[in-house]
Amino acid sequence: MLGWKATNREIRRCKSISEVDERINCLEKLFTRTNDGMVAFALTEELESCGKLLEALQYFEKAERLFPLTYYKYMAGRAIARVKNKLFVEQSDIKSRSVSNGLKCPKCGAIMPQDAKYCGFCGLKL
Ligand SMILES: [Zn+2]
Repeated sequence: MLGWKATNREIRRCKSISEVDERINCLEKLFTRTNDGMVAFALTEELESCGKLLEALQYFEKAERLFPLTYYKYMAGRAIARVKNKLFVEQSDIKSRSVSNGLKCPKCGAIMPQDAKYCGFCGLKL
């Protein structure tokens, strides 16, 4: 296990790489070596910034587990809630776009949201 200072230096070294995939790769290797919460947290920033939310969430959860201080645990917990919320919004976006999940009006055939009470086109009660 590296000391705190050495770990921080390694995190900075990884983050100075210009290519994002290389940065993530470098931090993942460092995390395998150190199993350090700060490294996990640095990874989540990179993963979240390029939209890899599920991976980011995994590392946030690792960070939350590994952080020894309550304050950092709290920060990680907040971040987890934020990413989960983002994921939820993304998923419900996909849902609302998908026709197969909708309700078909028996009179005019328009596709309405699953929870619609009336057809938006012909006004039929669904
Ligand atoms: Zn209708």
